[in-house]
Amino acid sequence: MLLLSESNMPATYFCAVCGEEIETIVDPSQGYQQQYIEDCQVCCRPNVLNVTVDPETGEIEIWSEFEE
Ligand SMILES: [Zn+2]
Repeated sequence: MLLLSESNMPATYFCAVCGEEIETIVDPSQGYQQQYIEDCQVCCRPNVLNVTVDPETGEIEIWSEFEE
């Protein structure tokens, strides 16, 4: 049974460049594991965001890396 939410979920991560806490929106319908690039809202540098959605709880984990 899938508990995956079809609605966008707010999540926060820390920018890999400036360290600021950034709010973003995750679309769980894009999969349990996602990776995409988002520009930091504070320093405008690209962050590679790694998103995992727990298939049982729907909890979202998100962390960022420098873009290489
Ligand atoms: Zn930043």
